[in-house]
Amino acid sequence: KTQLKANITKSSKTDSAGNKGESNDFSSSSKLKETLKSVFKIGNLRPMQLQTMNATLSGKDCILIMPTGGGKSLCFQLPALLSKGVTLVVCPLASMMEDQVMSLQSHSVDAAMLNAGSDKDILKKVQEDMVDHNASLKLLYVTPEKLAKSKRFLAHVEKMYKAGRFARLVIDEVHCCSELGHDFRPDYKFLEIMKRQFPEVPILGLTATATSSVIEDKFIDTKYPKQSGIIYTFSKKESEEVAADLQSRGIKAGCYHVDVSAQERSRVHRAWIDNSVHVIVATAAFGMGIDKPDVRFVIHHSLSKSIESLYLETGRAGRDEKRSHCIIYYRLQDVFRHSPLVMTEQTGLANLYDMVAYCVDANKCRRSLIARTFGEVLDRSQCNRMCDHCENPCEVEKKDITKLCSSLLQILDKASTGESKLTASKVFDALQGKGPAANRVKGTETSADRSWLEVILTHMLLKQYVREDFHFTPYSNISYIIPGKKADLLRTGVDEVHIELKGARKSVQSVPPLKAKQSRHSSHSSHSSHSSGSGSQDRQDVRGSGEPRSSR
Ligand code: ADP
Ligand code: MG
Ligand code: ZN
Repeated sequence: KTQLKANITKSSKTDSAGNKGESNDFSSSSKLKETLKSVFKIGNLRPMQLQTMNATLSGKDCILIMPTGGGKSLCFQLPALLSKGVTLVVCPLASMMEDQVMSLQSHSVDAAMLNAGSDKDILKKVQEDMVDHNASLKLLYVTPEKLAKSKRFLAHVEKMYKAGRFARLVIDEVHCCSELGHDFRPDYKFLEIMKRQFPEVPILGLTATATSSVIEDKFIDTKYPKQSGIIYTFSKKESEEVAADLQSRGIKAGCYHVDVSAQERSRVHRAWIDNSVHVIVATAAFGMGIDKPDVRFVIHHSLSKSIESLYLETGRAGRDEKRSHCIIYYRLQDVFRHSPLVMTEQTGLANLYDMVAYCVDANKCRRSLIARTFGEVLDRSQCNRMCDHCENPCEVEKKDITKLCSSLLQILDKASTGESKLTASKVFDALQGKGPAANRVKGTETSADRSWLEVILTHMLLKQYVREDFHFTPYSNISYIIPGKKADLLRTGVDEVHIELKGARKSVQSVPPLKAKQSRHSSHSSHSSHSSGSGSQDRQDVRGSGEPRSSR
């Protein structure tokens, strides 16, 4: 399962949680192992779970991004049992809260929840427990409103803190908070307030779909505050949204695309050059003639249309030869936004797919992949551990996905005999036994989750078992999925399909750790049947860093 993780440390104590170094590895703690087995009846932790627990148990603030079902709850539930006092869990959905509390209680863990409708007696008991050193209460779930809006409750939290019983603050499903209109996003400010008020309390954020701007915000703030950067977006609208979002968080950002007036564009450009605007959020239109030496980061909010464009765009970072970061957020949905636009160019689609292959690649050196596009060879050893794959090398795990591929193809075949066409999303529904019965095929139903199905489909697109078929209307461009030119190899059983996935992390002990470790990690665990190369709604974080120019 793709586990994409951003560790954002606000505290000055340490850099990233991926850095062990001191005695921050709790994996060997016998208490941890014992509790895992005796309370949760779980044999082993998944790698990201362990890293997260290590981070939060050593008092660091972090965000864990992991697809639904990845096992985020355990990352705070287990530490809660190992820590003195109460873990406060902010959870936007009442049903989710109930599920968790019930499940914990069934494991004999003392957990409680408070929402607007909570019974007075429960409220009273909880408030007592919060400050009572002999109370067994370990986890307290509350709604965002409760914490943000109820002064009375906050006063009790303060008492709990003063009593030394506020163990940890957890924000579960960070993204839901904003989607449900809970006004929780501005509450990153609220998080700052919490941090100021409860400086000793580690904060742990959990989400399956952190909007990239959430990460960008913290990345920019912690890594390159007040320094120059560019964020490339797919559309004009998106660039406006991202710019507004950053501005609302106090980051000086300007927007740049063809619909911005020439006057305003030149104002923004100048402001950026003289550092009164730090981040330019732009469509690919921005770039001609940029020669600012100290661009510290280039973020692709959506993938580039080709590796060549990526190269040009990222090449704007680090011209002063100082360390800079380039990040791509990748998700399959974005491919279907780009493809109708590039398909009219002769090699447009092929270039886009090369870009996709780059994003989903399991372990090759990113810089070698870029060099190859220009017909050059860059040996891995020359990368200097300047790309994410070289920095954190992983084993490759091969997985046979023939059965799912053929199921997917059967669904497309059925659709084409009925002369209908399916979008990727409809195909996934059909495979999961959802949506119109007419789209489904007996025997193909799978319990695989969306993110894994996206990996399968991506692989099939890249291997031409399926292809995109475009439908243009005045209002929208739709990409359907239909059988591709290699489909017969799958139908006749000639081809077995194997996919390369990120496996266990290679031990890199022999190599001295780099200074200025990046604060973000993307990695893939190797244990479950869900192992995959990309996220579902999540965007996969594909990074490179260093001096992009020298990769030419
Ligand atoms: P998420 O919040 O990421 O969607 P959950 O925390 O609800 O996921 O966990 C999903 C399921 O995975 C739960 O049934 C949980 O018990 C199980 N699980 C979590 N961690 C592990 C593990 N290390 N080994 C086996 N099962 C696990
Ligand atoms: Mg969850
Ligand atoms: Zn590399």
